Amino acid sequence: MFESMIEVFPWDLHDGDVERVLDHLQGELGIESLVIPVMVSPISQLRTQKISPHMFRTRGGAFFHPDEDRYQATRCKVAMSSWLKQKSPIENTLRACCERDIGVRAGVSLMHHPRIARRHPEFAVRNALGDCSTTLLCPFNADVESFGAAVMADVSAREGVSGIHLVDPDTCTHRVDGWEKSPWQSLGPFTQFCLSLCFCESCYQRAHGTGYDLGKAREMVCGLIDTAIQSSEHATVDWQAQVADHDGLMAMLQWRSVGLVSVLSGLLEASEVSVWLDRGGLDAECVSGISAWPDECSVVANIGSIEDLDALDAGQRGKLCMRVGPEVAGTDLVSLLKQASSSGVPSAVIGNYGVMPRSREDFVRQAVRFSRRASSV
Ligand SMILES: [Zn+2]
Repeated sequence: MFESMIEVFPWDLHDGDVERVLDHLQGELGIESLVIPVMVSPISQLRTQKISPHMFRTRGGAFFHPDEDRYQATRCKVAMSSWLKQKSPIENTLRACCERDIGVRAGVSLMHHPRIARRHPEFAVRNALGDCSTTLLCPFNADVESFGAAVMADVSAREGVSGIHLVDPDTCTHRVDGWEKSPWQSLGPFTQFCLSLCFCESCYQRAHGTGYDLGKAREMVCGLIDTAIQSSEHATVDWQAQVADHDGLMAMLQWRSVGLVSVLSGLLEASEVSVWLDRGGLDAECVSGISAWPDECSVVANIGSIEDLDALDAGQRGKLCMRVGPEVAGTDLVSLLKQASSSGVPSAVIGNYGVMPRSREDFVRQAVRFSRRASSV
């Protein structure tokens, strides 16, 4: 049976009164399961629901109290959100969902943690120019790897959590910290990509063990950055084509991908529940470290239209949890969910409740009802 879910952040459940929000989602919209992000990157949101504060900001971190014993093997410790000090922990929400038979998948983002990266630059991504990221952790750092495994074990052991949506641990395509604010120089997407590649001590150690010459790769990447910033077209190039055309970069990505697959395996092994790898857009396939459709787990991906869905084969649709963003509106939302459910997609998640306009709810209700009907035919 097709599972329709809605993404709700912990603060939107609590600030809106858990019972009341669940009544609304289950009773009025017909939602059967929730995706609740419990370890998140920094977010600001202007809430459409009538709750206070109207503007919600978090510097990110964990929205649960960690089970400290699980983190003994790592120096990389969970940064707890300050919100936790004022509010009830996630357990209350999980209990309330269990009582109503609402399924919960937990959302986990492991690599984008400014509070940890600033406190511990030794765990952070270090780019080809030697500059340390103030937001991203390196997935190949041993402490970060154990931290990731501990979080997966900790979250998956909580009663009521039936699955985990894991944000892709590949840090390769993240934005360079704070650059979007610079009025003087806009880094083009290709330069951004080059600056997202890590050359930290841990990466060098791994390269050494595998016989890959990371020093040479770093010289290559520095050269590409220098050339790119001298070119007036660097902001507008088709960066993915540029990466795919460059043998040296592709070789580096291939080397990274072997490591990332092993990082992912460790994270999957640590989890007691099923894991969906959250790939975001599928168009980043050429730079993805982990293949778009890993054999080991199912995938969460943004699907914007029936054409996107049709482009997938039956095997891919069978392991897809389709994420539907605000760009799919009105009756398109209804037809997309209906089509997904009748073409073998097991689940879809609509995001995110806290910023969803009330006018969208009518279509969500219809989409849930029709997709359920389509899957039972
Ligand atoms: Zn690194």
